[in-house]
Amino acid sequence: TSYGFRQVGQGEKQALVNDVFHKVAKRYDIMNDVMSMGLHRAWKDAMISALNPRRSEDYKVLDVAGGTGDIAFRIVEASDRMAHATVLDINGSMLSVGAERAEKKGLSPNLTFVEANAEELPFEANSFDAYTIAFGIRNVPRIDVALSEAYRVLKRGGRLLVLEFSEVEMPLLDKVYDAWSFNAIPKFGQMVTGDAEPYQYLVESIRKFPNQRDFAAMITRAGFARATFTNYTAGIAALHSGWKI
Ligand code: SAM
Repeated sequence: TSYGFRQVGQGEKQALVNDVFHKVAKRYDIMNDVMSMGLHRAWKDAMISALNPRRSEDYKVLDVAGGTGDIAFRIVEASDRMAHATVLDINGSMLSVGAERAEKKGLSPNLTFVEANAEELPFEANSFDAYTIAFGIRNVPRIDVALSEAYRVLKRGGRLLVLEFSEVEMPLLDKVYDAWSFNAIPKFGQMVTGDAEPYQYLVESIRKFPNQRDFAAMITRAGFARATFTNYTAGIAALHSGWKI
């Protein structure tokens, strides 16, 4: 099979993504450090500063594609362990690793883990103060559907924050980055999981994801107000923000 460079249907795309994360779940956190050279930590910290979670037991965040919990843990900690975060992911293997990590950190009382699809959130409208998604939305087959769902479950005054790989806006760095992602990432993937192709697929999904301006327009189209973005590391990643008003 070849995952890259061909059109796949939505069901097939989700199946490929699920396959990747089932395979890597146990080594996901280490792979993240290797592949981003540790940068993902700084980007995630910056996302939490932008969110500035309220120190209140009423403050409820939904972290979609939450995987092994990096974003949710940071939110709970930044709220002095007062806020509650729901970690939602389509992949039970990633959530199991997350739940185990949460237990070790003593964060379990502030967390709920839910296995579900970002395109079909199992929550009532107007339930959350914030919706976060980090390095997840590009894996979702119908991004517009996921954004409408985000809008639906947020309360009025609620905040959407999306952290995702984006378009590198610096000459030279874009070349280095291309070389890194097209060559090194599939190689590391091969070394760790014995299979390079799923990583080629993930790298390709970064290429296909809309750039900063186009994605901001999608957020606006989903109903959000004041869509803005901030580039991290010259646009290797970008944080998008929107409000439900
Ligand atoms: N947010 C975590 C982080 O930043 O470390 C995990 C990001 S990981 C790159 C992407 C996650 O998206 C995986 O855990 C995967 O299972 C999840 N995912 C993919 N498609 C999804 C969908 N349709 N609904 C919910 N989660 C999904």
